[in-house]
Amino acid sequence: MKVMVVDDERDVETLFRQQFRREIKAGLIDLCYAFSGEEALEYLRANEPPDVVCILSDINMPGITGLDLLSIVKERYPNIKVSMITAYGDDQNYLTAMSGGAEHYFTKPIDFAQIKRDLLQNGDASAGPGP
Ligand SMILES: [Mg+2]
Repeated sequence: MKVMVVDDERDVETLFRQQFRREIKAGLIDLCYAFSGEEALEYLRANEPPDVVCILSDINMPGITGLDLLSIVKERYPNIKVSMITAYGDDQNYLTAMSGGAEHYFTKPIDFAQIKRDLLQNGDASAGPGP
């Protein structure tokens, strides 16, 4: 199952790589990274139909924000699940994300156990595009 992590903080890549080391090794999860909303959209456009099943996106990024990305992805690729990761447990952002079709809303510091539970429970690794 390919999961795309979108965050303007590059350390996040190392963090995810470490935290998901076992799942990556076991072939359960394949992570890819984008460091802006623009880069994320470019990746999806270059790989149509996208192989990404799920996106975990930061909200506060220069340029396209995570909430912008959510709405664009939901419009272009409704099958991709999008969850938000943010440093701010802001009510307005939460409501915007949930009404925009976000799957989950995680606050930093990232609870990787929770993310893994949600990804591995809900994500069907073998599934192609759903019915
Ligand atoms: Mg940020």
